[in-house]
Amino acid sequence: MAREAATHADIPFGPEDTPWQKTFSRLRVVGGRPYGTAPSSDPRTAYLEVPEVPHHKVQLPATGLDEEQYAEAEALFRRHIDTQTRNFAGYQVNSALDYEKRLGHYLNRHLNNVGDPYQSSSYTLNSKVLERAVLDYFASLWHAKWPHDPEDPESYWGYVLTMGSSEGNLYGLWNARDYLSGKPLRAQHREPGRAALGHAPRGDGPHALHPVAFFSEDTHYSLTKAVRALDIDTFHALGSTRYPDDNPLGPGTPWPREVPSTEDGAIDIDRLAVLVRFFASRGYPILVSLNYGSTFKGAYDDVEAVSRTVHDICAEYGLDSRRVHHGDGEDAGHDERSGFWLHVDAALGAGYVPYLEMARDAGLVEQAPPAFDFRLPDVHSLTMSGHKWMGTPWACGVFMTRTGLQMAPPKASEYIGATDTTFAGSRNGFSSLLMWDYLARHSYDDLARLAAECDGLAAYTHERLLALQEQLGDDLWVARSPQSLSIRFRRPRADIVHRYSLASETVHADGTARSYVHLYAMRHLTRQRVDELVGELRQPGAFPPDPPAGTGTAGA
Ligand SMILES: *Cc1c(COP(=O)(O)O)cnc(C)c1O
Repeated sequence: MAREAATHADIPFGPEDTPWQKTFSRLRVVGGRPYGTAPSSDPRTAYLEVPEVPHHKVQLPATGLDEEQYAEAEALFRRHIDTQTRNFAGYQVNSALDYEKRLGHYLNRHLNNVGDPYQSSSYTLNSKVLERAVLDYFASLWHAKWPHDPEDPESYWGYVLTMGSSEGNLYGLWNARDYLSGKPLRAQHREPGRAALGHAPRGDGPHALHPVAFFSEDTHYSLTKAVRALDIDTFHALGSTRYPDDNPLGPGTPWPREVPSTEDGAIDIDRLAVLVRFFASRGYPILVSLNYGSTFKGAYDDVEAVSRTVHDICAEYGLDSRRVHHGDGEDAGHDERSGFWLHVDAALGAGYVPYLEMARDAGLVEQAPPAFDFRLPDVHSLTMSGHKWMGTPWACGVFMTRTGLQMAPPKASEYIGATDTTFAGSRNGFSSLLMWDYLARHSYDDLARLAAECDGLAAYTHERLLALQEQLGDDLWVARSPQSLSIRFRRPRADIVHRYSLASETVHADGTARSYVHLYAMRHLTRQRVDELVGELRQPGAFPPDPPAGTGTAGA
């Protein structure tokens, strides 16, 4: 160690280029040496550069930064973020934020909503009273039965997420996996004398407790991560190991990794039906995750049609409702539950489309996508991100299901004084405050008008880009899926992509890989900014002749 440190003694560090170990005073020296390890190489060259914020200005020596150094570093960072905020157009997050004046106070307060939102906690510095108000608001907006009532299986249950929809997807799939594999329900756990629940559950048939997951090729990467983390078999994994030659979409061809989508990016329902039937007919319980606002194309899966299709197929094979058996002899019992689960990943859509629907009925817009929420009896769970439509300065979101579908939590936690029904331990209580603040200050009328404006801005952007394409006489692959806030087109030059933070994705069409970007017509974007972008795209050289494929990923 000592030798290592000596070798790198001269690596300049921090705003004053002082060698790292020279930043140690007597108090910070332990056993005659600087506390901690010295850098093994120059961190300034180890990481990618952010030209606007030079690394040495923000490096953190053991002394910390003095007032002047701090002011300089913070000013650089602030200028960078403010510039990027001004032009931010590539992701489906609203960055027109206005919380600072009212909520700055709470940055110096702990707000931790650890444990179940409907139970008080011995951790009294929480915002659960606001969280419940937010959850009730969304339960109503999404046509669930509310308020939450632990005795009423049809009432909703939910919680405010510490991550965004990635956590909602993970939680939804975790719940779905355990539900479909026959684990005890939360309601059963509350009944006295449930010794039988300690035994392994049994279903009818060899695959009855082996769920298989389906989602489309336009699905967010968090789903792939969730099935891996939770060890859930996808139809691809199960199909290619157990039934390698039987792909029902093309006998003898390899199983697709995901369910094919239409060109607009919505799940191909006919193909989904064929795949679901293959597994349902063999007795596997079915887990379908749908997109309501797909990440790149902003496409809406037809949740209503899928739920009807999946329900009907499952009913043919007794999976619409079935028995799960627990225990032996005197302890024996069973419960009745569905053999399929429909999760809706509505990261953007669940925040936006309800208001678009209102706007349509008020004649402000012509169309809105079909229903996705608890109006549909077969929707089991859904999730939304708070930072997307609504707009919060960090990731957060809402997960919602029906109370009767909740699984028993792994363990009651006396320590926190509330049941451990959520995913995280400590839960961010500030996010509930942000959402509460936002919803308190925006009426349905306000939000319906804003939804109509965004829809109009998306149409405007689409027209402008089509006109540009026409004018340049060059196919820029400009496209907008129905009612989407995303407009996609050919990837322009790298500096334009960076200036507007445009998200890239490689889309395979007709056997060729095409490098796209998209722009999202969110509330902070203006026609003026769209015009500026279109102006830049009109300049010679804005579109390199051969756009490099696969040089970016989508997803906010
Ligand atoms: C953004 C997005 C997610 C992930 O949400 P985070 O809030 O970033 O975790 C999941 N699904 C879809 C369709 C998304 O667009």
